Amino acid sequence: MAWAEKMSSGRFRGGYRNPDGRKLYVTDGGRGYERKKDAKDVAQECEVQARRRAAVDEDRLLASVTWGEWWDAIGDAKTTDGDTDTARVVRNIVSAQLRPKWGNVPLNKIRHKLVKKWVEEEELKVRPRMSPEYVHRVFGLFKWSIKRAVDEEVLDASPCVGIKLPKRPDKPRAYISVSRAAKMGAFLREDYRDAVAFMLETGLRPGELCGLHADRIDFDTGWLEVVEVFVTRRRLIKPCPKDYDVRKVALSSKAMEIVRRRLGDRDPTAGCGQTHSDGTACHSPLVFLTIRGRVMSPKTLSDHITNASTKAKVTRQTAYAGRRGWFTRLAEGGLDPFAMAAQGGHSDVKQTTKYVQVTAAARARTLAALGEATPLTVIEGHRGAARGADPEVQPVKDSEIPDGEDVG
Ligand SMILES: [Zn+2]
Repeated sequence: MAWAEKMSSGRFRGGYRNPDGRKLYVTDGGRGYERKKDAKDVAQECEVQARRRAAVDEDRLLASVTWGEWWDAIGDAKTTDGDTDTARVVRNIVSAQLRPKWGNVPLNKIRHKLVKKWVEEEELKVRPRMSPEYVHRVFGLFKWSIKRAVDEEVLDASPCVGIKLPKRPDKPRAYISVSRAAKMGAFLREDYRDAVAFMLETGLRPGELCGLHADRIDFDTGWLEVVEVFVTRRRLIKPCPKDYDVRKVALSSKAMEIVRRRLGDRDPTAGCGQTHSDGTACHSPLVFLTIRGRVMSPKTLSDHITNASTKAKVTRQTAYAGRRGWFTRLAEGGLDPFAMAAQGGHSDVKQTTKYVQVTAAARARTLAALGEATPLTVIEGHRGAARGADPEVQPVKDSEIPDGEDVG
């Protein structure tokens, strides 16, 4: 209960007690209040605020917070940073699966047996349109949100521990080989054709390609520095997340030729004209623009690639398939996985070795060890070359957050 008392100046100060019993005063910066009632009112307000803060600190409010409210508090980490494909997948999963199921359920009422039932018998049960792959994604994202609650000490334990998920078939991921790119090229406009070719030379993620600034390319040393990404939803240029090392990618002469062609006679010191999220002024143009001079968006780039792959009658492709094509080329060419991981921006070399394990050369070595001689032929685009779960489109590992998005 707040009160007011007279100061030696004849004016008033308000008093209240902290939840721990300590007396505190409000004096309007030492001047005091002219009216007694004002002093008391201000003190009253301070007391309420102090009580609310203490409740949050002690988790009394938080354990009963609903999953939906919890997601609103933490979900940004998964949906605004890093690469836009992942963010889109996350938003879809939240609105289609997680919010309808858990949105109004308090965190501390999400019990292990409810989660188990959800996975084994209810909405996440594997059936048409609910593939094991998708179940893993949905559950992985949910588990990440719960783990955050445990980490923040909002929950004591995770109800997701020990839940068995359906087995995922190890299906090959599509990638764009040089020959597929050539076939698709006939159905791609020149700006998008160059973008695809550049991905096969550099392995950039779609957002990185669309946000590539001319001054990140060093024609003398032949290295490209990956520093910015274009974030479609917010339509701005964002520096790579801080926990990402800025990485360098070796530029082939073909890659440099593409850059020169895309830049044409544009002013190399003119800024890109886009907002940079860190507020810095930009003094360099974007390398890839559409033929109309607009920013290339990862989503549109991906749509063009998918269309072209359909028309060219090759396996259906997306923008990330260009990146996978680069990994596959390097693996087939025998580059060691560590160099591939460093230049490709994989935080874990395990993601890279998947590309190496399934090369034609690896197969020939294995068969040779079995005593079977195989003529070593270069099989371009053989099935399964990019086998395995793809790190770039899995938003679900709880060890990582998409500003990490390696998921990216
Ligand atoms: Zn810029």
